[in-house]
Amino acid sequence: MIYPIKTAPVFKQYIWGGDTLKTKFGKPIPDGFAAESWEISCHSDGLCSVAEGEYKGKLLCDVIFANTKAMLGKEEAGVFPLLVKLLDAKDKLSVQVHPNDAFAAVHENGELGKTEMWYVVDAAPGAHIVYGLKKGTTPEVFKKAAQNGTLEEYLNYVPVKKGDSFFIPSGTVHAICEGLLIAEIQQSSNTTYRVYDYNRTDKDGNKRPLHIDKAVLAADYNACGMQTSLPEKISFEGGTSQIIAECKYFTVIKYDVNGTVSISKPDTKFEMLICTEGRGAVEYNGTDYDFSAGDSFFIPAAITAYKLKGKCELLRSYE
Ligand code: ZN
Repeated sequence: MIYPIKTAPVFKQYIWGGDTLKTKFGKPIPDGFAAESWEISCHSDGLCSVAEGEYKGKLLCDVIFANTKAMLGKEEAGVFPLLVKLLDAKDKLSVQVHPNDAFAAVHENGELGKTEMWYVVDAAPGAHIVYGLKKGTTPEVFKKAAQNGTLEEYLNYVPVKKGDSFFIPSGTVHAICEGLLIAEIQQSSNTTYRVYDYNRTDKDGNKRPLHIDKAVLAADYNACGMQTSLPEKISFEGGTSQIIAECKYFTVIKYDVNGTVSISKPDTKFEMLICTEGRGAVEYNGTDYDFSAGDSFFIPAAITAYKLKGKCELLRSYE
């Protein structure tokens, strides 16, 4: 059976998390605390499952790989390429860098690289991110500063507000800082090289490991500038849309829906939806699949037309 598949996430309890996934989205986070929810994931570190319908309770990856033609639009499918997350950064994340595909293939047992994008769902006043290194920071300086715990003076800080989006190519030194609620679309990879963790310890007094040598090799020392202009917002009956990220791995389009928006798509691509504000429904074949903020759907490739209805903000992404 083919229908828009609402997913049930896997929660991750990293030290920087909070309770916003519960207070804002009503998610059943364990012990009232979570850093991330992996909303659409076929990565072995966090396999999400199906929340509703015929496949309810099954792992999303099992449903997808039992019928790759209908689900992914191709008979031969390798790894599922993308991952959608929500992140509640009550505290700041470590300063980190992700490898590209070539580096990860060699150093991480064939894992994918990790290019990612962030959409800022909510931001506390004064919130900021780390994006890239200050101009002129060499691999030698970067390594020494990471080893000495003095990296902060070489980081490029960028103020952030609700509604901003950021494209983070692999190799970009980055960090999400405190007070940010973020939706992330990324390559399906869990490889992170941590270079600075503010000398923090967990509840048992342990520091998290750093991966300085690999980070020095994986970092892009020219990644100091970010994409500052986006394609124009398009208005139509029932809402607006704007492409907020586009690269060889994914396209992400933000929709503000106020009414009904019709979407048609090829039968060769799956799509992913995550609602970030409001509520509505995905209409397919005359049936409404309701959602509210925080809900995500996997749209099988075989669905070639659907509608987004309601009053909501959502991100639509595809390969
Ligand atoms: Zn990252």
